[in-house]
Amino acid sequence: MKSFSDEKEKELLDKAFHASPCLMAISTISDGCYIKVNRCFEETTGYTALEVIGRTSVSLNIFDNSTRARVSELLTNQGIINNFEISFKKKDGTLRVGLFSAEIIDFYGEQCILSVANDVTELRKYEKEGLMLERMSLIGQLAAGIGHEIRNPMTTVRGYLQLLGEKPDFLAQKSTFELMISELDRANAIITEFLSLAQIKRTELKPQNLNCIIMNLYPLIEADAFTQNKQIYFVQGVIPNLQLNRKEIAQLVLNLTRNGLEAMEERASLTIKSYVKGSKVVLSIQDEGCGIPPENLNKLGTPFFTTKDSGTGLGLATCYKIAESHNAKVRINSNSNGTTFRLLFPIPEQEQVELISALH
Ligand code: ADP
Ligand code: MG
Repeated sequence: MKSFSDEKEKELLDKAFHASPCLMAISTISDGCYIKVNRCFEETTGYTALEVIGRTSVSLNIFDNSTRARVSELLTNQGIINNFEISFKKKDGTLRVGLFSAEIIDFYGEQCILSVANDVTELRKYEKEGLMLERMSLIGQLAAGIGHEIRNPMTTVRGYLQLLGEKPDFLAQKSTFELMISELDRANAIITEFLSLAQIKRTELKPQNLNCIIMNLYPLIEADAFTQNKQIYFVQGVIPNLQLNRKEIAQLVLNLTRNGLEAMEERASLTIKSYVKGSKVVLSIQDEGCGIPPENLNKLGTPFFTTKDSGTGLGLATCYKIAESHNAKVRINSNSNGTTFRLLFPIPEQEQVELISALH
């Protein structure tokens, strides 16, 4: 086996030192001053080697006094530190979390400390977020259960209100009874939307045609539009069957058309279209409404985000969830002339083959 010269070995070690993805530093035991730091140290802390060499971590404010004291104590007692979690400060003052290891080495005849640290700030953040999401989903499930249970007593109350409200004794309070009933209906609508959002069971998809689902719904959408004195059109393209859940798609189309209709003045029109574009089937719902201001665009789909006095802010959150369970992408174009929501559904492989052969 070939042996390296001392020079060559030093060069290799130096390369490894700088190429390491961990922060590495060598400091003297006697006064704690840095002698050498690697590139990752410079990049992570924001200090250049020139700025730190000859100074201590405490004077640079990288470690506070108590951390430094704890590190010295551990080193004196054990001679080595393994994965000790510490927080350190960058040059710009931001705090990071590191897993810190250190041991005493001989560096050109002097007793020094070799410190190695892994920046685990992001990791800790993701761990925390993951935990939070888990808790949120648990809370969501609990809330869904409670929502469900609240409905039964509400139905009873609504029934009695209706009964009492029709009695001649309460004729004078008729409008109050109607208000109470409509408030209960609103609460019920919120629970319905929330439950469809929180429902956790996997969506069952079956091959079927999007146009058929929309056609079945059409009378309902038409009635919605006509009572508001608005126009509605459905331009059906020739599209292949898709893997769909009928109930969910109906819900999605209803939510999007209702939003569109609600955004428009009287006599304006809403157009639903289906067509093939590339390897996708597109469902587009275009309104001539007020549009969505840019600052609201990234809030769309956040549960309970609404700009309407009597909105629930759950309609779009449900749509996004349904799109996700269908592997569909949602695209939004909006300006002061109106808004277009486009849903891009993937075409199943088998249908793609048939589509191509039909074209030839
Ligand atoms: P809601 O309709 O109950 O307010 P949604 O989740 O359906 O809740 O919609 C959230 C918000 O997004 C609406 O309050 C509205 O500000 C905005 N929005 C959604 N669709 C449209 C649209 N087609 N045109 C204008 N604004 C829209
Ligand atoms: Mg809505």
